Amino acid sequence: MARTPTIILHLLVTLIVCILSSARTSSSSASSSDVDGFLSCLSADIPPSLIYTPANNNFSSVLVSSVRNLRYYVTPDTTMSRPLVIVAATEPAHVQTTVVCGRRHSVHIRTRSGGHDYEGLSYASVDPHRHFAVLDLAALHAIHVDASRAEAWVGSGATLGELYYAAAAANSTFGFPAGNCPTVGVGGHLSGGGFGALSRKYGLSADNVLDAVVVDAEGGC
Ligand SMILES: Cc1cc2nc3c(=O)[nH]c(=O)nc-3n(C[C@H](O)[C@H](O)[C@H](O)COP(=O)(O)OP(=O)(O)OC[C@H]3O[C@@H](n4cnc5c(N)ncnc54)[C@H](O)[C@@H]3O)c2cc1C
Repeated sequence: MARTPTIILHLLVTLIVCILSSARTSSSSASSSDVDGFLSCLSADIPPSLIYTPANNNFSSVLVSSVRNLRYYVTPDTTMSRPLVIVAATEPAHVQTTVVCGRRHSVHIRTRSGGHDYEGLSYASVDPHRHFAVLDLAALHAIHVDASRAEAWVGSGATLGELYYAAAAANSTFGFPAGNCPTVGVGGHLSGGGFGALSRKYGLSADNVLDAVVVDAEGGC
């Protein structure tokens, strides 16, 4: 029986957050952070239902919702500091606000898509004195496939499984070279390269990205 060739989908990604270049936020510590100012700044533009502090009953469940390193939620490591707030962004403007407020009040931002970073880079800190916030992009997981162009817009918070499903639903011959684990997030996977079963022939996931919506270290989009 003749085999139908795989058509590789090319991606356009929302949102990649470039905050590593922000020397001011990355050097923030508990002593220099203005926590109250940061929370007030967030509240001015982001609905309270999307802002989780430790005072919120759902804080712990939201924090561990996508954590894949068992060490962090079976036996929480007390030498690691936890975020002072989680922002569950539902639109790009929430991302911009969080970056702007973080810079203004010297609070470090940790961006999380699928939460699969084994070292906890997206949700923990080895510095117990560091004040940081988790910018959770899990809700930004929309996928729009343009079958006629073999292209798709994919949200940073989408999982690889959601991407594979949407691609196959649009056209059963569509594929995308990425990892084997369906719960890995698109944002962290693409920004780290992304390697999987199709990579030998089609390259890394990042090689197949055409464009991206980027929020820069100034909060610009
Ligand atoms: C069970 C498992 C299976 C895996 N299988 C594979 C595999 O087959 N092939 C492979 O190549 N890799 C694989 N990985 C590694 C995986 O691709 C990386 O850990 C990836 O970075 C996880 O992305 P994430 O969005 O889920 O994680 P996150 O923890 O959310 O993010 C990882 C890193 O990317 C940053 N980041 C996330 N989103 C953004 C964004 N929008 N803008 C800027 N920075 C962002 C975070 O701050 C963090 O530093 C696997 C990992 C696990 C745990």
